[in-house]
Amino acid sequence: MAILSYLSFRNIQNENYLIQKNFDESRVSLQKELEDALEKEQSKIFQEAKAASLFLYELPKSLLEFGNAANFKDVNGIEAIFLYNNGTLVYPDISSKMLSHTSSFPDAKPSLAESALYQSEQESSKLQEAEFAREMLARNPLLTPKEQTQNILGLVRIAYKKKDFNEALRLLKILESRPKQQGYLHSDLTHSINLLHFDILVKMKKHQEAEDFCLSVLNQFLQEKTIEDIPATKFFFETAFTQILSFENLKQEKREAFWNLRGNFNRQLNYTDILIHNQELFQNTLHGENLSKSGVLFRSEGNVTLFRMSYPMLPGNQVVIAKVDNNAYQSRILDKLRITAQRWNNVPFSITDAKDSLLLGAIPDSANVITQVSFNAAPSWQLSLYEKDVGEIRKESRHRMFLMYGLLFFSLITVIFGSFFMLRFFIQEHKLLAMKANFLSSVSHELKTPLTSIKMFAEMMARGRVMKVEKVQEYSSLINKEASRLENLIGAILNYTRMEHGTGAFKWEKLDFSVCAKKVFEAVEDIGVEKGLSFKTHFDPNVYVMGDYTALYSLAQNLIENAIKYTNAPGDIEIKVYNEDDRAVFSVIDTGVGIPSSEQKNIFNDFYRVGDEMTRSTKGSGLGLAIVKRVAETHKATISLVSKPGKGSNFTVRFRKVD
Ligand code: ADP
Repeated sequence: MAILSYLSFRNIQNENYLIQKNFDESRVSLQKELEDALEKEQSKIFQEAKAASLFLYELPKSLLEFGNAANFKDVNGIEAIFLYNNGTLVYPDISSKMLSHTSSFPDAKPSLAESALYQSEQESSKLQEAEFAREMLARNPLLTPKEQTQNILGLVRIAYKKKDFNEALRLLKILESRPKQQGYLHSDLTHSINLLHFDILVKMKKHQEAEDFCLSVLNQFLQEKTIEDIPATKFFFETAFTQILSFENLKQEKREAFWNLRGNFNRQLNYTDILIHNQELFQNTLHGENLSKSGVLFRSEGNVTLFRMSYPMLPGNQVVIAKVDNNAYQSRILDKLRITAQRWNNVPFSITDAKDSLLLGAIPDSANVITQVSFNAAPSWQLSLYEKDVGEIRKESRHRMFLMYGLLFFSLITVIFGSFFMLRFFIQEHKLLAMKANFLSSVSHELKTPLTSIKMFAEMMARGRVMKVEKVQEYSSLINKEASRLENLIGAILNYTRMEHGTGAFKWEKLDFSVCAKKVFEAVEDIGVEKGLSFKTHFDPNVYVMGDYTALYSLAQNLIENAIKYTNAPGDIEIKVYNEDDRAVFSVIDTGVGIPSSEQKNIFNDFYRVGDEMTRSTKGSGLGLAIVKRVAETHKATISLVSKPGKGSNFTVRFRKVD
């Protein structure tokens, strides 16, 4: 313990130094672990993007193959994947039809007449009127083609409202035979017309025809050399595919095919849209020089970040370009970094993005930056590691010192208390041993004295030297007296050992204490009277207690015998047993030698005897009151003693009364 305390003390001196060193090591580890975690997660994303692009490369080309194709697996953190072979785009293949910007915008406003007619169409009361006017207009040879188109569209709307679907289809056929027509809102009406056509077929419950129509529009679209309007195209196919998928009688195989078709087609359109809006960045990325050792090249412009990976698994000069989904990518990597950093929560660090906004960690108010590294990856993030705040180091060392002092203090207290208790234990043990030795010698002496007398008288009688009858009687009664002394002594020792074994040996019963005390009194009365003492007794009837008869008998006997033993003639002894509230009270009061107050506590100890003249000349074992105390304790009784040397003693025992 002492060595430990000394070592703790020495440690305190090194605490500041150790904390600083520990912190330096932690900082280096944190940096390395963060860099590793970032690299690991990124290469995971690269791998997943590669695996996904493999599927795109093998994408079924014919429509009917779509039903068998596995679902494309989206990569968390990647928005779009593009596949190039020898510098030519392979996926999305519809991107090869680049967007042709139809420069002629539709007229901003319809003519007044057209607006009025459109208004009438909306009100059912004027529908008839509007139809009539439209039919009249249709016959007007002076209408421009655009006006004709609008008029036919109006007639289609009216037929659709009247649920005259066949008429609506007939009119749509006329419009479909004139491609590339413009409306007021769309530069190209084709998709609106197609959508109307498809919708009418669905309304007529011609599901098979509706499916065929959708596929024929798709075929037509794939054969076109250019894409005119991606949002409109997307809208038509999204609506049509969704409708078809909701057909109840659609066969499982076809449902799967349309499901996959919808997914793949949408993806192609979305990717193409991205490609079209970032053509320059794609070219830069495709032809940029490869800088990083991982073979991945990042290029960003505004919010758009692309990365290029070479693709060695496939023949030819394959290249994958992926567009990063900024938020998903960022949170995917940050999640990993956050977990890594958790282990090093005592190292101040921050991760900031290119715009200096904080992504992870914290920027301390006043701490010097120790290390600053750029993560050389898509997120052009910066990792900063800061000096540990001096105050914090002090605080930590104070905390540790406090702990150490605490330990030291605790150790000292333990040592002191331990020694104290050990010492006390040894002293007690020593005392006990001395007392036991004393007891044994006094017991053996006590045993020997009556035995010697018995032996002597018995021998004398045996040798026939005692002739007179009176002498024989005298010796016999002496032998008898000594024998009962022996008996009493052995009884006390047995009683004592019985008490030592505890209550297990007791037989508990309800008994009248007056009866018990009276028995004791009757047995010893003669001895007292012989000594010249006078007795006063008071035994109330029915003083019931719960207890062991033999134990209580021995309690009463010891107290009464002591009163007789330690009172010189002429003296008085009063014995009382009575009820008092919920207590049963037993008192023995004598006018004897009394006990000095300094001894009153000791006399109840095992083998203890007061060292005065009176006691020395009186026979005893020092066990009587020890037995009284034990019996009282096991019976949950209290003992009170009032005594004055030369005046006398009053021993009172209070038991719990039972009814
Ligand atoms: P012993 O066998 O010596 O009587 P006890 O345990 O009964 O042993 O008593 C312990 C000591 O207490 C006695 O040695 C005596 O000095 C003292 N003592 C006990 N009872 C009385 C009493 N009634 N009056 C005076 N002294 C007493």
